[in-house]
Amino acid sequence: MNSLFGTNGIRWIVDSQNVDFPIKLGLTAGTYFGAGSRIALGMDTRTSGPMIFNAVLSGLEASGCDVIDLGIVPTPMLQYAARELNLNGGIIVTASHNPPKFNGLKFIASDGTEFSKEQENKINTIYYEDALKRADWNKIGKHYCERHIQDKYRKSIISKASISKSINTIVDCGNGTAWDYTPDILTKLGCQVITLNAQPDGRFPGRLPEPTEENIGSLIMAVKQHGSEIGIAHDGDADRASFVDEKGEFITGDNSLALFAIDAVKKNNGGKVVIPVNTSMTVIDVVEANGGEAVITPVGSPLIARKMIEIGAVLGGEGNGGVIFPEHQFCRDGMMTAVKMVEIISSQGSVSNLIAELPEYHLKRDKLTIPSALKDSIMKKVKENAQGEILDIDGIKMVHEDHWILVRASGTEPILRVTVETRSHGQCEKLLQDNINWVKEIISDLS
Ligand code: MG
Repeated sequence: MNSLFGTNGIRWIVDSQNVDFPIKLGLTAGTYFGAGSRIALGMDTRTSGPMIFNAVLSGLEASGCDVIDLGIVPTPMLQYAARELNLNGGIIVTASHNPPKFNGLKFIASDGTEFSKEQENKINTIYYEDALKRADWNKIGKHYCERHIQDKYRKSIISKASISKSINTIVDCGNGTAWDYTPDILTKLGCQVITLNAQPDGRFPGRLPEPTEENIGSLIMAVKQHGSEIGIAHDGDADRASFVDEKGEFITGDNSLALFAIDAVKKNNGGKVVIPVNTSMTVIDVVEANGGEAVITPVGSPLIARKMIEIGAVLGGEGNGGVIFPEHQFCRDGMMTAVKMVEIISSQGSVSNLIAELPEYHLKRDKLTIPSALKDSIMKKVKENAQGEILDIDGIKMVHEDHWILVRASGTEPILRVTVETRSHGQCEKLLQDNINWVKEIISDLS
């Protein structure tokens, strides 16, 4: 059966689909949740947001679900609302960090976690089998607007922060949903806040919505010009936060995750930190050095969140700026991530010094286009010929004394990703090339 879902919910280029597509998705979701369910619905700042929001809302109500309309909100805010208001689930209209022509839907369970693969499969089945349920005229769902939970969410984050002195911050909201959250929360915590791109605008005129080093040049410049202690950049739906140190240097997501991991393990006198298989050794090293244990999962934030719940982890996160703080909620939260970084700086000093103390590794990635039909046989051959300690929970990871290599097939595209991480800079490029060539040989043998 086809799948509606990619690695991050359902995404599409807006004008590639008719409006009956999101209406049917709303009906599908309503059928899944069931008549009488109460569902949170929100959207990011994209220009197509209201059109898709209203289509999904119609579908949900037509199937008999009541809709709790949150308006434009960050994804983690909607996840908080789903759990805090005891709803049956939620849907956020967002394409996260994708360019402006995209939009999409992300489905949220009643506990605020992202849908699991099993839940997504059920949505798929209902959609493709046209097994849609429509409510009788007198059972059509109701529409409620909810604007109080947003403030409760802000207060909840503020109550979990302990910022000992005012920090000079610059927050680049990227014209996305963080505009009404991170600057306000940090100001209320006593920090100085300068904002960039803090007007919501779905054309993303300030920068592209993914907070990569290439996209946040203005923030890097502004941090230097203003002598700020930290620069913070969010993605479009604000479940992620990237950072720039006080010298204007971009901090990789693996390194910021390492700082959060050290902090969590120290505060808890140990504990488990859940990270996906493609995370840097830096994070594993610092967790173990501080008396904690790193627990490795397949790639994907829903899997990290569920593993954290299962084992009672003290932290979880990915190397892309998505961090899960269990004392707050079991999902990536860019606002909480920003506040926690400011908290760390306020008690431990300059962030560049903290980064300089981390073990240094070099990580490189590349990808190969492969014939879809050969995906499984290529991965089988990779496994048969793999060397080192093998971890096969998601792709094949080959772990050696001072480096590792990960070969993973994309779940949605005909692509194979190869990642290597080494201690020495020179070794990294060579090892990546050697392994790309090795995989190419496997492909040509099978073709
Ligand atoms: Mg996002």
